[in-house]
Amino acid sequence: STFYKKMTDPKQERTFIAVKPDGVQRGLIGEIIKRFEARGYKMVAGKLIWAPKDLLKNHYKDLADKPFYNGLVEYMSSGPVFAMVWEGKEVVKMGRQMLGATNPLASMPGTIRGDFGIDVGRNICHGSDAVETARREIALWFKEEELSDYEFANKSWIYE
Ligand code: UDP
Ligand code: MG
Repeated sequence: STFYKKMTDPKQERTFIAVKPDGVQRGLIGEIIKRFEARGYKMVAGKLIWAPKDLLKNHYKDLADKPFYNGLVEYMSSGPVFAMVWEGKEVVKMGRQMLGATNPLASMPGTIRGDFGIDVGRNICHGSDAVETARREIALWFKEEELSDYEFANKSWIYE
């Protein structure tokens, strides 16, 4: 299918980005979308969702033995998040760079966390850390029919 083709085309990699409950409360959904849009990336899915704890525990299952895990699940379930899938060349790695470091105080100004956050447990936005992680997270948060397959009419002004 086209879906499968896109997922395996390195030029059309996908990542899972979510504005966390603090980012939603602070009115940063538009700001974060704006940055990915302006860069030339394409949103293929987006929804406001107050995630059930099961979903969040699964999402962060690799961190289950960390001391901050319970607090992290509480924080992430404290309100709705804005979950998105973004597509484009090297969007997983670039998405992480656009987010900044995990700890906002270690993030460069110009990054999302470096511009809008202070504490690690209020770091505004999530981004997948690898292509494989992205695949897992997208499947966890979205049904395939929630992803829109389309092309930008101005694609050739973004990609050479
Ligand atoms: N986190 C935390 N304390 C820590 C490390 C992480 O509260 O010492 C939270 C933080 O919200 C982070 C999330 O746990 O975004 C997931 O941690 P991870 O190491 O995956 O960081 P990320 O991939 O989000 O940069
Ligand atoms: Mg992570």
